[in-house]
Amino acid sequence: MLEYAISLTSAAVKNDVLKAIDDKYPGSYEDDEYPISNKQPTIWVTTPLSYEDIESIPGVKSANPVYKGEGKPCRCGSGLPNYSLEDANGIFCARICDNCEAETKAKYRPEIFTDPNYTVDEEVDPEECIAYHDEDY
Ligand SMILES: [Zn+2]
Repeated sequence: MLEYAISLTSAAVKNDVLKAIDDKYPGSYEDDEYPISNKQPTIWVTTPLSYEDIESIPGVKSANPVYKGEGKPCRCGSGLPNYSLEDANGIFCARICDNCEAETKAKYRPEIFTDPNYTVDEEVDPEECIAYHDEDY
């Protein structure tokens, strides 16, 4: 079983996506500790499905494994171990490696990595950033 951060096209498709995952593998379960954000709708689901399986479900933009251990290869294809790119508030943005760190970071506004008081707006690329942003920001 792997935990995935699953980025959705909208918060409204959440239940359909969870049902589709459960249809593919009954016993998959959601970590529903985090309320779903309308701005960056993301759900966390533990399932044995592959990310290709999950990304084939309508309403899913991307599925990124949240690995418990080190050393899994990065999805950029470098073969290097991945680690999480987090912003200045420790919010998960992407899985990266030494090969794609600079390229991935360049897709974000630089201040989110240095200023914990940055403001969230639509400039954050919704295709790439699956971070959960509190409505308080
Ligand atoms: Zn990489």
